[in-house]
Amino acid sequence: MTMDVAAGGLRGTIAGEVIVPADSGYDEARSTFNATIDRRPHAIVRPRTAADVVAAVRWARDTDLPIAVRGGGHSVAGHAVADAALVIDLRLMRKVVVDPARKQVRVQGGALWEDVDRATIPHGLATPGGTFGDTGVGGLTLGGGIGVLLGTAGLTCDNLIRAEVVTANGSVVIAGADGDLELLWGLRGGGGNFGIVTEFEFALHRVGPLYAGYLSIPLDAAHEALRAATALANDAPRELTIFGGGPSTDAHDGSEAGASPALLNLGVTYQGTPDQAEPILRPLRALPVVHESLAPMTYLEVQAMSGILPFGLRHYWKGHFVRELDDGVIDSVVAAMGRAAAPSFVLLEALTGAAREEPVDGAAFGQRAARWNVSGLAIWEDQAEDERQIGWVRNVADGLRSASLSGAGYGNYAPVDETPDRVRAAFGAERFDRLRRLKASYDPDNVFRFNLNVPPAISS
Ligand SMILES: Cc1cc2nc3c(=O)[nH]c(=O)nc-3n(C[C@H](O)[C@H](O)[C@H](O)COP(=O)(O)OP(=O)(O)OC[C@H]3O[C@@H](n4cnc5c(N)ncnc54)[C@H](O)[C@@H]3O)c2cc1C
Repeated sequence: MTMDVAAGGLRGTIAGEVIVPADSGYDEARSTFNATIDRRPHAIVRPRTAADVVAAVRWARDTDLPIAVRGGGHSVAGHAVADAALVIDLRLMRKVVVDPARKQVRVQGGALWEDVDRATIPHGLATPGGTFGDTGVGGLTLGGGIGVLLGTAGLTCDNLIRAEVVTANGSVVIAGADGDLELLWGLRGGGGNFGIVTEFEFALHRVGPLYAGYLSIPLDAAHEALRAATALANDAPRELTIFGGGPSTDAHDGSEAGASPALLNLGVTYQGTPDQAEPILRPLRALPVVHESLAPMTYLEVQAMSGILPFGLRHYWKGHFVRELDDGVIDSVVAAMGRAAAPSFVLLEALTGAAREEPVDGAAFGQRAARWNVSGLAIWEDQAEDERQIGWVRNVADGLRSASLSGAGYGNYAPVDETPDRVRAAFGAERFDRLRRLKASYDPDNVFRFNLNVPPAISS
């Protein structure tokens, strides 16, 4: 019996869909955000329920196939799809149920951030997600989660309070106070190593008025602008979040992209009114700002501010969490911005307030002592450009190494060739050993290995 026929046999046993190479939808189904990823799984299962996920995992184990898991399909490293594997693609599981009285939300494992925000915001509530609505809740949460509410509400993973997980042997377990708290700790930043999360439960926070937008500064004033941004981020109240990106030729003021000279865009979000924000933003107002779009906004408007990056472009991302954005880092970043080929850019994200504090019951995420996450994001279309673009990003990352907190970058922006050393460094020895013990108890055969992999501890 061929693998196609065997996988086809799953069709009758689950409520969801099964796609094999002979099916017309196979090529679309195996494609993900990053067009450099071109892998051919044996089959793709799209479960509708946790019971379907259990059936798919058991089938893969019986058939001796490794399992890749797809949430929103945005992993630049391409973890959502693997050659000769069973892909469990959660895109049909996007239900979101809000409990406004308890300020909690239950989210199925394949939901996107736009699903969550649309459901919670009518109640005046949000959990801190990413800044692009079409990224998956699954990968983003399990790897950390950096978004505009981080100063007051922490990382996304800090707000994960419970999860339903299908483990490598096909059983369903609960992570959290009514289940395994150690598993909850591991899911808060330890990646997709421990099983398939069929339902996440998050704490919600009240979101009031917001004042947000971009300040665009010519690249030749970027040193001064980044010095001002880092001084402000170090002292700012928790309500202020600052991200930066450049070079950009998009002034975010409605003018045509490419119309402006190279710019550094500072993305600012303040949880409050313009009157409260403006005195705090005074150091940025002193910069030679050529365009600005700061305005009162709803949370949904802030979440739409970055727009959408389409699937099908080529990507290679890499960076470091840095201790400080000191003059050496700024020099290196501005020089890299000067060498970038648009739309590739350097992204800077300030970690402030609650994001730098361990949540109750802890989290596996290991980079909180950093002040900034700095990453080179190469984005291009033509395969002939691969070497140049990848070389530019590696150079950005090399230039940050001496300022790196731990020798590692943000796991959620990892490149396709992320090394085991950088994965380990991202957690530090103690957290990594703890994750390895957890892995050994939930996935001793490393069935879930298409991720930033934590190898199971070897029992003595
Ligand atoms: C355009 C874009 C914008 C981004 N913006 C942000 C941002 O603002 N903040 C931020 O922190 N990150 C951001 N990221 C990075 C993002 O967090 C990662 O790309 C993340 O992997 C996306 O999750 P996903 O579910 O879409 O990915 P997928 O590729 O579907 O999944 C990646 C991996 O996560 C695991 N996984 C996913 N879902 C589950 C599940 N339910 N159970 C178990 N394992 C699962 C699996 O190991 C899977 O292979 C962005 C990425 C892109 C491409």
